[in-house]
Amino acid sequence: MSAFYYLQNPDHKGIFTVHTEDCRIILPVHGRTYIGTFENCQEAIKSVTLLFPYRIFNGCVECCPECHYW
Ligand SMILES: [Zn+2]
Repeated sequence: MSAFYYLQNPDHKGIFTVHTEDCRIILPVHGRTYIGTFENCQEAIKSVTLLFPYRIFNGCVECCPECHYW
């Protein structure tokens, strides 16, 4: 299980990046939102997409490469 966060500021395409708490790229403490603790990034992205169905979430290439779609 890992804790997942997303960055509150999307990138230039409007995509929000999801990280685990131990990502080495991570994350300004004040610029991130806690999603929850999940088995994997697929579960984390599924959960946060239910909350924000009009946002696109993408896994970080470093810590969530299996969810890095964009
Ligand atoms: Zn990351």
